[in-house]
Amino acid sequence: MSLGQRKAAELVIINGTQPETPGSVNVAVSGGAVLTVGGPDVLALVGPGTRVLDAEGGAVLPGINDAHLHFIASAMTRFGYLDVGASAASSWQGVAGILAAAAPGRDGWIRAHGWDEVVLGPGGAEALLELRQDAPVVVFDQTGHQLLANRTAMQAAGIGRAPAVPVGGVIGRTADGEPSGLFVDAAMEMITAALPPVPREDLRSAALKFQRLLHAQGITSLTEPGLGPGGKALLGGACTTDALEVLGAMALDGDLTVRINALLLFAGTGGISAETVGNGLASGLQHLYRQQGIDPQLLRIAGVKVFADGTPRSGTAWMSEPYGEQCSHGSMVVAGSTEADRTAELNEIVRLVHAAGLQAGIHATGDAATEAAVDAIIAAQSADGRQSRHYIIHGAFSSNESLHRLAAHQIGYSTNPAIRAAAGDLMKRLLGPERYDRHQPLSSALKAGVKLNIASDSPVTDTDWRRTVAAAVTRATVHSPGRPDDPERITPLQALQAMTSLPAWQDHAESFKGQLAPGMTADICVLDGAWPADIDELAEHQAAWTIAAGSVVHEPGWISAGPNGTPAL
Ligand SMILES: [Zn+2]
Repeated sequence: MSLGQRKAAELVIINGTQPETPGSVNVAVSGGAVLTVGGPDVLALVGPGTRVLDAEGGAVLPGINDAHLHFIASAMTRFGYLDVGASAASSWQGVAGILAAAAPGRDGWIRAHGWDEVVLGPGGAEALLELRQDAPVVVFDQTGHQLLANRTAMQAAGIGRAPAVPVGGVIGRTADGEPSGLFVDAAMEMITAALPPVPREDLRSAALKFQRLLHAQGITSLTEPGLGPGGKALLGGACTTDALEVLGAMALDGDLTVRINALLLFAGTGGISAETVGNGLASGLQHLYRQQGIDPQLLRIAGVKVFADGTPRSGTAWMSEPYGEQCSHGSMVVAGSTEADRTAELNEIVRLVHAAGLQAGIHATGDAATEAAVDAIIAAQSADGRQSRHYIIHGAFSSNESLHRLAAHQIGYSTNPAIRAAAGDLMKRLLGPERYDRHQPLSSALKAGVKLNIASDSPVTDTDWRRTVAAAVTRATVHSPGRPDDPERITPLQALQAMTSLPAWQDHAESFKGQLAPGMTADICVLDGAWPADIDELAEHQAAWTIAAGSVVHEPGWISAGPNGTPAL
């Protein structure tokens, strides 16, 4: 049958271009799927009811897929909590000023987010401890691994002068040895346990606004890496089972237009145990969306997030060689009092997740933590020979051997070039130049055959995917341009694949998303200009149209994503 005899398409994009092929391209869409991608022959599918979008030479890309984006936390930090990030305050006095002027929320608490010690330096606890005796104040940092509480919040949480510190946690101390208000990783729960839950209507309205922002940037898919019972401790206390239910309700009501693969969070950023994971899986939470009849291509629970270690900047990354101001190795943050105990615990956690038919997404920033995570995955997979595409989140591998092990065992790798761009200078100081050069070995990973994807880790960095792509290509940081001879650079097209087809692999979804081809779902990002030869020019182009499952979810004039990804909402 020739194209001319076929039924008219619902939507046709004309005068598009593609990064890898010269000439113009037209794309026809019907029934939520791509019908055909081709030349002038596609125009035969334009009928009287067809909507025609003129791309005017703009690049037509598969919808962008951010494989590690904390959707709910980002929505709340942008549209729910008070902002004390770098754009709001440039000093601790500035942060204190914002908090002093804030009206407490409906529950009496003041929740804020976004401080960054790289920007503000030390002194946060001193600035905030005695602030606002009238209201408990909790202020999460930009990474989600630390929080500051004022004295009123510590009193509300029942924290005395000499509290017991949980395994995998750190608390700051004043000169007198009392808690200063700084709580790191597993210790954050000491405060967040006292936080009232965020009202569901607040979650939903923030999620809807944030979804619009993502579509305005060209994003149609994401992995939400951590919602569930452990989410109270994470990024403002919003990443709870309530949030999972809000997403489910949005899907059932037809309000969810961004595809979400969610990882369950059974414990916070530290202290996860096999017992907790076992109990969590026994609760059946992983079946929530299936039981509700939700289309798994739209919203699904894909796996379980496991924090194997912390971060280099808080000294909790587990490295094989010492690093940082304390010149320590860091350690794993899973339950257990010795490294051997913790390793055994991690193995058991991954075994349980694997046996449940789920993916383990393992947060590992240090090379030793990464090795331990890879060992645990290989052990779990060898029990039944199934390869479930478990993956390493963040990752700072030391050797090509570990990359080859990832490739050989079909273990994924999701890393964050924009974090390197933002925090690279600090990382270089902490890790030393040699390890820093090998940090995020993008090119080595691709050469080894690893299914590498790159992701924002928003709200740690902005959701603007163009920055992630540019950072992967240039390896520049805030204070230094990337070296043109940096062997770990990847090409712009490789970076684009790492935000389209490779995340689809992570989701076991390459059969229906991640590429612009007949039969694939019509998730499409149309830029307002051709894919640039010089990657620095990518930032000058916006998503003109975004199409999700065949429906236009963003078009010119709806909202501007702005130069910093800031929506004009
Ligand atoms: Zn994350």
